Amino acid sequence: MTKFSDLNLNPKVLKAIQEAGYENPTPIQAGAIPPALEGRDVLGIAQTGTGKTASFTLPLITQLARGRARARMPRSLVLCPTRELAAQVAENFDTYAKHVKLSKALLIGGVSFKEQDILIDKGVDVLIATPGRLLDHFERGKLILNDVKVMVVDEADRMLDMGFIPDIERIFGLTPFTRQTLFFSATMAPEIERITNTFLSNPERIEVARQATASETIEQGVVMFKGSRRDREASEKRKVLRLMIDAEGEKCTNAIIFCNRKTDVDIVAKSLKKYGYDAAPIHGDLDQSQRTRTLDGFRAGELRFLVASDVAARGLDVPSVSHVFNFDVPSHAEDYVHRIGRTGRAGRDGKAMMICAPRDEKNFDAIEKLIQREIPRLDNPLGTPAPAAEATEEPKAEKPKRTRAPRKPKADAPEAEAAPVEAPQSEAPTPVEAAPEQAQEAKPEKSTGRGRGSTGGRGRSSNREDRGGNKVVGLGDHTPSFIELSFEERRAS
Ligand code: AMP
Repeated sequence: MTKFSDLNLNPKVLKAIQEAGYENPTPIQAGAIPPALEGRDVLGIAQTGTGKTASFTLPLITQLARGRARARMPRSLVLCPTRELAAQVAENFDTYAKHVKLSKALLIGGVSFKEQDILIDKGVDVLIATPGRLLDHFERGKLILNDVKVMVVDEADRMLDMGFIPDIERIFGLTPFTRQTLFFSATMAPEIERITNTFLSNPERIEVARQATASETIEQGVVMFKGSRRDREASEKRKVLRLMIDAEGEKCTNAIIFCNRKTDVDIVAKSLKKYGYDAAPIHGDLDQSQRTRTLDGFRAGELRFLVASDVAARGLDVPSVSHVFNFDVPSHAEDYVHRIGRTGRAGRDGKAMMICAPRDEKNFDAIEKLIQREIPRLDNPLGTPAPAAEATEEPKAEKPKRTRAPRKPKADAPEAEAAPVEAPQSEAPTPVEAAPEQAQEAKPEKSTGRGRGSTGGRGRSSNREDRGGNKVVGLGDHTPSFIELSFEERRAS
C-alpha cells in the first residue's frame, strides 16, 4: 500500500497530514498526487467522500511552497461550483498548508468585493473561486490570470448542471496555455469529455470506485408510499417522514433530509419545526450568512436536522451524519449516490432511507439499476393506503376538483407563502403547492453566459432540482396536486 511518505510531498505538508490524523492516502490521492507533482495534467473521476480535495490541495501546496505571488496575479486557481464547496476547499487548504507560508483568497458571492480586492491586490498564491464571481473580478480589472501555473476544476459535472461550462471555458482561455490542469468530476458526461479533450493535455486519468459500491457501511431502505387521497398526499408524506425519524429514536443523532425542490426544502423544514423537531433549511435562495449559520450549527451538532437541496448539500463534508432521509426520490440516479454518501463516512455506520411515491417509481428503478442492488422495502409507517373507493366516500366539500383547473400559481409568489404548512394537531390537506421555481440554485453564483455557447449555459441546462418525474405537459413543473390525476387513473387513461 502506498504511504504518504512515498508521495514526494513537502515535509511540512506531511506534518499537517499527520496532524489531521490521516494514516494512508486514499486511492484518488495515491493516483493523482504523483502525476500532479510531476507537473502533469490530471483527470480525476471521483466523488466527494473519496478524499479528492486533498488529492489536488496537497500537491498544489507542495508546488507553491517555493516562489511568491505578484500583486493581482494569483499563482493558482481552484474553481468550485458553489460557495459552500469553495469555502470547504479553503478550509482544507488552511488545514494542509498550516506549516507553509502561503496566501489565499476566496472569491464567492455574499462576501464584499472590497475585502477580496485588498487580498488580491497584495498577491495570492491560491485563489479559490466560483466561476461567476471570478469573472466579475476579472472584468472589473482587478485580476490578471497570466501567472496562473495550476488551475483546478472541482466537481465539473455539477458545473455542467449549473450552466457554468461557458464560464469555465472562458477562464481556461484567460489562463496561460502552459498552465497545469487538475480536473475533477464525478461522472464523464459527453460535454465534460469535450472540455477535457479541449483543455487538458495528455492527462493522467484516475478513476475511483463509485461511492455506492464503496460504502457498504450504509444501510438503505425505502418506503413505498401512496397517499390515501391526492389532496392529502403532501401532508401524509411529511407525516411518514416524521414517523420514520421517530422510529429511529436516539440512533438518529443527526440527519440530512433531501428534497428535490427548494420550495419543498422550505415546507419540510417548516413543518418539522412546527412539530417540535430541530430542523433548518438550506438551499441556494437563502442568503449566505443564513446558509453559513445553518451549516455551522449542523456541523457543530447544535442542529439535528438539515433539510437540503442537492446543490446546497453537494460535496459538503460533515464527518458524522447518522441518517439521510430522501424525502423525494432524486430524479437523477447519481444524485442518490451523492445523497446517501453524506452518511456512513470514514467507515462509520450510516442509514439512508427514502420515500417513494408511485410517480417516482421510474426514477427509483433507475437508482436500483445504477447501484446494482435492490433497496430493501420498509413498512409504510402509516399502514396500507386507503382503497380508492374509500376516498370517494369522503364528504363532498373535500373532494378534489378535477374539472376547471385553476391557473398556474404566479411565478413570483413568495415560496413560503405559497405553501402553507399543516398545523401540528391536524393533518389537514395542504392547498396549492409551491410556486414554480425558475430561479437557479446557488443563485448568486451566476453563470455570466459570457463564454462560448452562452445561450446554452444555465438557461438550457438546468435546474436539476426542479426537474421532476412525470410532469403534466404545459403546466410547468409545479402543477397543483389536486388537478393531477391519480396514478391508477393515469394508467387507465
Ligand atoms: P473529500 O472527498 O475531499 O470531500 O474528503 C472526504 C473526507 O475524507 C474529509 O473529511 C477529509 O478530511 C477526509 N480525508 C481525506 N483524505 C483522507 C485520508 N487520506 N485519510 C483519512 N481521511 C481523509
